[in-house]
Order: sequence, then structure tokens, then C-alpha cells
Amino acid sequence: MLQLRPNCEYCDKDLPPASTEARICTYECTFCATCVETVLHNVCPNCGGGFVPRPIRPATERRPGLSLAKRPASTKRIGLSYDKNEIADFVKSLRDVRPEDR
Ligand SMILES: [Zn+2]
Ligand SMILES: [Zn+2]
Repeated sequence: MLQLRPNCEYCDKDLPPASTEARICTYECTFCATCVETVLHNVCPNCGGGFVPRPIRPATERRPGLSLAKRPASTKRIGLSYDKNEIADFVKSLRDVRPEDR
């Protein structure tokens, strides 16, 4: 099951489960759309992959056992694993390579 993480790892902005601004990589690294577009340039600083919009988990249980209440979002805030200067270099080395070619 996809972890719905509560914040942007870069700027620490809140990204509640219904946020349309959350972006994730294949490892569920989670950032806000602004950081992905203006700082990360679609490069995940943890794995080098690209991002997609995080899907919204239904608040209402429309199938048995499947809803935000039954499968709650994570509350564990996550921060950066690398310093911002290192991330800038990492992003620079990959931003011009399409995710499908990385
Ligand atoms: Zn952010
Ligand atoms: Zn990642």
C-alpha cells in the first residue's frame, strides 16, 4: 500500500492526503509541486527518478476496508537525507536526462 506521507521532504510544507500538490517517486519519496518544478526539476534527490502526482485515497469507504479512515495516512514527517548544495549538484547532473533514460 502506498504511504501517504505528511510533508514535503524539501520545504516541509504540509501535504495532507487530499492535497493535489503532492508529488511522489516510485519509492514514495514525497515533495510538493513547487519544489519539484522550481528546485528539483523532476529529479528525486534520493533516487534520481522522476515524479508523478500522488493519487488521492478516497475519504469514503466505497469498497469494504478501503478508505482513508480504514487505511490512514502516515504521520511520520520526513526530511532531507542530503544537504541542499549536494542536492543542487545531483539535480544539475540529471535534470536534462529524461526519467525514462536515467
Ligand atoms: Zn516543497
Ligand atoms: Zn525517490
